[in-house]
Amino acid sequence: SVAAQMVDIKKEYVLKSETVRALRGVSFTVPEGDYVAIMGPSGSGKSTLLNLLGCLDRPTFGSFYLGTDDVSKMNDDQLSHIRASRIGFVFQSYNLIQQLTVVENIEVPLYYQGRVNAASRKRCRELAQLVGLGQRLDHRPTQLSGGQQQRVAIARSLVNDPYFILADEATGNLDSVTTEEILALFERLNDEGRTIIMVTHEDEVAAHAKRVIRLRDGLLQSDIQNETRIHAK
Ligand code: ADP
Ligand code: ADP
Repeated sequence: SVAAQMVDIKKEYVLKSETVRALRGVSFTVPEGDYVAIMGPSGSGKSTLLNLLGCLDRPTFGSFYLGTDDVSKMNDDQLSHIRASRIGFVFQSYNLIQQLTVVENIEVPLYYQGRVNAASRKRCRELAQLVGLGQRLDHRPTQLSGGQQQRVAIARSLVNDPYFILADEATGNLDSVTTEEILALFERLNDEGRTIIMVTHEDEVAAHAKRVIRLRDGLLQSDIQNETRIHAK
């Protein structure tokens, strides 16, 4: 089934005297289990598309489906609920809470929804193990390497059983060895059935995805299956 579908999406920003057409009619479908890299030069609309996929903003025209729900018709409350409950965000800067332990950071999305209990705590420990942090459950972010911190963020992104992981330059702060480790983790999670959408400007990173979408001037320049995909070690 479908994780996300964009149908003729347009996004316009109205400035004082002009309208900026950031997206000018973008359509694509992300089936469950896909692994997509979104690329494009500066100003091509990547951030705008990311904001729409992450339910941080609504399109000016067009429909955006998460599963079978049309998100473009939702009000602000519905949008923030779906954002908190069904999208797994991973950022370049990890966005961990320094005062909290690994397990507590993974639990944060549930905390906001008042869904923390013994069972959720157990699930967060399991997610820490899944990303290779089973020996670091009570560490705080400052006691972890950058790669380990990004693993915490990836575990946190999974706690809500999201439609997809939405990764924004997720390896942008990491050296090449650690980048490879994080890409190996993404590949394993994808092999296990999780859907991944990542925005990156690095060809070496996009080379790991199953599919590469390129934006140019607010339109899809290309949308191709990555036949020469590189597998992370
Ligand atoms: P990218 O992430 O690929 O650099 P953006 O989505 O940030 O592209 O921007 C696409 C176009 O929309 C650019 O011309 C940018 O200046 C414009 N834009 C983006 N966000 C806004 C905004 N909030 N208000 C006005 N214009 C914007
Ligand atoms: P990124 O580095 O992620 O591509 P941008 O530099 O495109 O981010 O944009 C940073 C922020 O500024 C975003 O929230 C974007 O919506 C906003 N923005 C981008 N271009 C414009 C613009 N021309 N006018 C107003 N806001 C903009």
